[in-house]
Amino acid sequence: MDYPTRFDVLVIGGGHAGTEAALAAARMGCQTLLLTHNVETLGQMSCNPAIGGIGKSHLVREVDALGGAMALATDQAGIQFRVLNSRKGPAVRATRAQADRILYKAAIRHILENQPNLSIFQQAVDDLIIEGDQVTGAVTQAGIRFYATSVVLTAGTFLGGLIHVGMNHYSGGRAGDPPAQALSHRLRERPFRIGRLKTGTPPRIDARSVDFSVMEAQPGDQPLPVMSFMGSVEQHPQQISCYITHTNERTHEIIRQNLDRSPMYSGVIEGIGPRYCPSIEDKIHRFADKSSHQVFIEPEGLTTHELYPNGISTSLPFDVQLDLVRSIRGLEQAHITRPGYAIEYDYFNPQDLKASLETKLIHNLFFAGQINGTTGYEEAAAQGLLAGTNAALRAQDKEAWSLRRDEAYLGVLVDDLITLGTSEPYRMFTSRAEYRLLLREDNADLRLTEQGRALGLVDDQRWAAFEKKREAIEAEKARFKATWIQPKSEAAQALAARLSQPLTREHSLEDLLRRPELEYADLAPWAAGEAVEDPAVQDQVQTQIKYAGYIERQALEIEKLRKEEQTRLPADLDYAQVDGLSNEIKNKLIQQHPETLGQARRIPGVTPAALSMLLIHLKKRS
Ligand code: FAD
Repeated sequence: MDYPTRFDVLVIGGGHAGTEAALAAARMGCQTLLLTHNVETLGQMSCNPAIGGIGKSHLVREVDALGGAMALATDQAGIQFRVLNSRKGPAVRATRAQADRILYKAAIRHILENQPNLSIFQQAVDDLIIEGDQVTGAVTQAGIRFYATSVVLTAGTFLGGLIHVGMNHYSGGRAGDPPAQALSHRLRERPFRIGRLKTGTPPRIDARSVDFSVMEAQPGDQPLPVMSFMGSVEQHPQQISCYITHTNERTHEIIRQNLDRSPMYSGVIEGIGPRYCPSIEDKIHRFADKSSHQVFIEPEGLTTHELYPNGISTSLPFDVQLDLVRSIRGLEQAHITRPGYAIEYDYFNPQDLKASLETKLIHNLFFAGQINGTTGYEEAAAQGLLAGTNAALRAQDKEAWSLRRDEAYLGVLVDDLITLGTSEPYRMFTSRAEYRLLLREDNADLRLTEQGRALGLVDDQRWAAFEKKREAIEAEKARFKATWIQPKSEAAQALAARLSQPLTREHSLEDLLRRPELEYADLAPWAAGEAVEDPAVQDQVQTQIKYAGYIERQALEIEKLRKEEQTRLPADLDYAQVDGLSNEIKNKLIQQHPETLGQARRIPGVTPAALSMLLIHLKKRS
């Protein structure tokens, strides 16, 4: 056959994980094949068309800093941008964009189709080719065999996917798409630990049947935020508003009366759903004292009338969905265009993965996205980028790459998954990161672009822009350090009204910026030398100077932990032979086989004393 069937990296699945994985491997110079069910659904948003939000935007910016596509596509597709937590500290600020789902898909497809080294092929994968304990390729539904050094599996909610609407259920990968049954069966024959999770989505509504006049409009923020380091406001399409309405007692009554027809409450659904993104029936049940819940009415795009009512995800029967929707203010005449549903699917215990997202059981096979027990486009994209990069490194015979918890939310995400596992769909929150002040969405570029460049993920254009920004920040910080304000100077007098205490001695602008009452904009006009125009540079200088004390303290703490983090635990370590460990701890270590002492520390129940025993044992071995 003339068609190329041998690649460096094979990626299965063209969702958010698969696209970033394929792009990363191709950017690194590997001949890569993206195999997916349907080219038309590349980059499809299965649920609400929104990217970012709390904790998630940090991941999007990190993927972006490593050269990924998600933020670039969001800038081309975002129709309402907001900065959440804008009144809180920079560590928890988060950008969120409502996206036009058609524009988003088009942007992702454009990026994929124009990526050198990347081929796309439409076919369902029915099996992996495994020789001994090593994957060597995949077989498609039509029996076509593709071979590669490494394979990344990103099948999302499709493995054994089962869709529920009321007491009816049928197989599906998500509404309108087939499930991956054959692959699910084949993978179940392997020694993976496989479980079931579930997620759900609300019914969609035709905007022409909605009374927006009784709802609260929620326009985007001004100035308009931008998601990608390389993006600009000029790329954004037309901006429109979202709307807010609420459920009420009647809505809740309709749901209560029909809970026996809910697949979740009648025991039909076995999988556990996302605690932080509950269905409306879950909310009514769990927060029984609340008489109302917010519903965000979000447009699905500029060229469609479909709306996404965020907050009423449900798998109740269709007649109940219709009643509950029509009980909500502004939706009394609503026409539903698609019913809401829940989907159950297979996921793999992520404790069977290494920090590179390679499976511990089959060499050269990497897992990323929803199949690792996560939920969310951003979580999937971030894992995809990491898995794709490591698949490429393996193909190039290079060492694996991972990020530490103090370097990135991506490091937190992967470390949480592989050390703690998950029994419910895992989503990112800022509260999951212990070094929040270091891991801000605004400094993802400064944290990661250099690593991305070294790996071959970051192109010349991004690198040049990054170096320019980094130099500008350093120069501006130096300008603030070198400019001194005398107590009786014109500057001191101009600032007097803003100061909580008058100046009694000379201060540098750097000193003054540390005061809570002063902002960069108050001080910059008094700095000697050329002014800086770029707001991203100004923000960075302000945050770095204002929070320098806290940032240094976190950095010291990290330094202390780093040694432990880097102490590797050999794969052949026989925990049964380690003196002084309880049987319970031995079992946990045998089961999870942590790669480093740091990972061992984070396994619940592993005590500091047990870590000391491990260290002593390691010293004896060496
Ligand atoms: P997916 O986006 O599912 O992509 C998987 C891709 O793999 C698809 O392109 C598919 O065609 C392809 N594929 C699968 N099997 C094969 C095969 N055998 N051969 C070839 N190609 C294959 N996230 C949230 O954050 N909040 C929510 O409220 C939320 N609700 C959701 C509701 C529903 C109903 C669904 C389906 C998903 C929801 N999600 C939600 C999850 C979100 O859609 C996923 O987290 C995200 O899409 C995962 O990305 P992924 O790349 O892992 O998988």
